Amino acid sequence: AAPITLDRLRKVYPDGTVAVEELSLEIGSGEVTVLIGPSGCGKSTVLRMVNRLIEPSGGRILIDGSDATTADPNELRRTIGYVIQSVGLFPHQTVRANVGTVPRMLGWEKRRITERTDELLELVGLPAGQYAKRYPHELSGGQRQRVGFARALAADPRVLLMDEPFSAVDPINRGRLQDEFLRLREAVRKTTILVTHDLQEAIKLGDRIAVLSDHAQLQQYATPAELLAR
Ligand code: ADP
Ligand code: ADP
Repeated sequence: AAPITLDRLRKVYPDGTVAVEELSLEIGSGEVTVLIGPSGCGKSTVLRMVNRLIEPSGGRILIDGSDATTADPNELRRTIGYVIQSVGLFPHQTVRANVGTVPRMLGWEKRRITERTDELLELVGLPAGQYAKRYPHELSGGQRQRVGFARALAADPRVLLMDEPFSAVDPINRGRLQDEFLRLREAVRKTTILVTHDLQEAIKLGDRIAVLSDHAQLQQYATPAELLAR
């Protein structure tokens, strides 16, 4: 795992929207930091900058001390696993192919990819013998989300970015999946930034919670216990 530093991070979109005014945050190695705040306050923008899907307008992002904004994209793919709300699985690829996406991009040998994907499917509770050859539409929403986790973990990233990972899952399965995440978390400690607008979820899953208001202004940065005591 690797610590992450957001140093006066700023994003103004081309149309002039100030999505992130100036955000500084220290995220400890192996910790889950939750970004919580109202819709439109800039949470996804922060994640997308860390993942380099968009360029910051100012400030720096340090992952384990090195500047992520100038890192080689392939290197970043190795470093970061990304989980999004709608999972974003490729519908015409099998579960195994989906999980192997990043290793394939990194040019791993086929045999190694299969070993790794099957190991991960086991880890997320979808044994390969039963699930590897299915297509996403042959899975429940919760199962698809697990495939999404497996895919994010495939190349053993040091950092995990999760954008509303449970919000597309029905409320009953959401609780189960959150428990699953906590269990997985014990097995694989990753520095994680998780975005949500659900306070319960933040308190359940976060080591630290960053409460944001419009333009990603940091209102509080505290542990769940500290937050509840206030
Ligand atoms: P959140 O994830 O907290 O809902 P976002 O980061 O998606 O917030 O959005 C932050 C602000 O930036 C919002 O006002 C949103 O409308 C705006 N925004 C997001 N993407 C773009 C874009 N590509 N161009 C212009 N404005 C954008
Ligand atoms: P959940 O209760 O987790 O939401 P579902 O009710 O959607 O799950 O599915 C129950 C079981 O049936 C799951 O193990 C799922 O993998 C399997 N299943 C769902 N859709 C299909 C399908 N189209 N083909 C094969 N198996 C399926």
